[in-house]
Amino acid sequence: MNEEPVARPMEHPDAETIRRFACVAATRDENRIIVRHLLRGCPECAIELTRSWLSPLTVDPCAYDKALDRCLPLLGNILLKQ
Ligand SMILES: [Zn+2]
Repeated sequence: MNEEPVARPMEHPDAETIRRFACVAATRDENRIIVRHLLRGCPECAIELTRSWLSPLTVDPCAYDKALDRCLPLLGNILLKQ
């Protein structure tokens, strides 16, 4: 009973989701999916992510606002506890 495990094809997040991840505009669930996928070692998506980071045309101009909207309440809570 020494059967080789059957390799299942890896499902990749779509390029648009990777672009949103790179621009800090992905949803929390999308972030989890992409991080989990990248931790599995997918070189294709790692390359796609690198392209998204290196290409200034793919940066969502609202990305900073979205990131700050997420971080400011957390920062406020931290500062209020001190
Ligand atoms: Zn992939």
